[in-house]
Amino acid sequence: QSYGFQPVGDGEKQGRVNEVFHKVAQRYDVMNDLMSAGLHRIWKNAMVAALNPPRSRAFAHLDVAGGTGDIAFRVIDASDGMAQSTVLDINGSMLEVGRDRAAKRNLLNNCTFVEANAESLPFPDRTFDAYTVAFGIRNVPHIDVALKEAFRVLKPGGRLLCLEFSEVDLPFLEQAYEAWSFKAIPPIGRLVTGDGEPYQYLVESIRKFPNQENFATMIGDAGFERVTYRNYSGGIAALHSGWKL
Ligand code: SAM
Repeated sequence: QSYGFQPVGDGEKQGRVNEVFHKVAQRYDVMNDLMSAGLHRIWKNAMVAALNPPRSRAFAHLDVAGGTGDIAFRVIDASDGMAQSTVLDINGSMLEVGRDRAAKRNLLNNCTFVEANAESLPFPDRTFDAYTVAFGIRNVPHIDVALKEAFRVLKPGGRLLCLEFSEVDLPFLEQAYEAWSFKAIPPIGRLVTGDGEPYQYLVESIRKFPNQENFATMIGDAGFERVTYRNYSGGIAALHSGWKL
């Protein structure tokens, strides 16, 4: 089925993605701030506020494509330490940075780091209360497979939240955003990481990702119910939510 986007060749795409994140891992966090002018922090905070993890009981949380731990750390903080977060990423270099950050924040007791592919999760069925993925699902070659895996590992009553760059819905913002993405981000990437090419790739991958409605359809097709989304910053980012009922 077509969801209004062109999947890029599988193994080739994953290899390219791995190379990109291996190259940028050490500078990933500072680049995030520069590229989004700090907005990624606001969007991530909003995602965790939407999740609203409980503060009075255990909460098994999986953060896929979790990279350097940004979402997991926020979930643990928001739960007053009740959440156990598993940070899963295909890239060991990103996880290494995440583990160092967790150690510095004294969060190693609440965090587990797992190197694995979102398309084949190494967990039994019905393991987690929540599955989050922030700015990661567009990098996965087979998004439909990753969504089915999300459904499988969630407990009944569990929730999926996906934060991703999306389709800007304000014409004036669209122009500024295009200029920023294609003209500013690769040179900033070159300055900070010594290589602009990975960021060129990242910007292009945003263009290829399905828009809000199409992605919502994909989530429903994976079995999720009550699928909704909300836009942030005029649709630069969108948060999709679905429930395994
Ligand atoms: N979630 C973090 C954040 O919001 O800061 C990191 C996002 S980063 C843009 C994308 C992450 O997706 C990278 O760490 C990359 O290694 C990971 N990734 C790409 N393909 C993946 C896959 N097939 N399975 C798991 N993680 C993957």
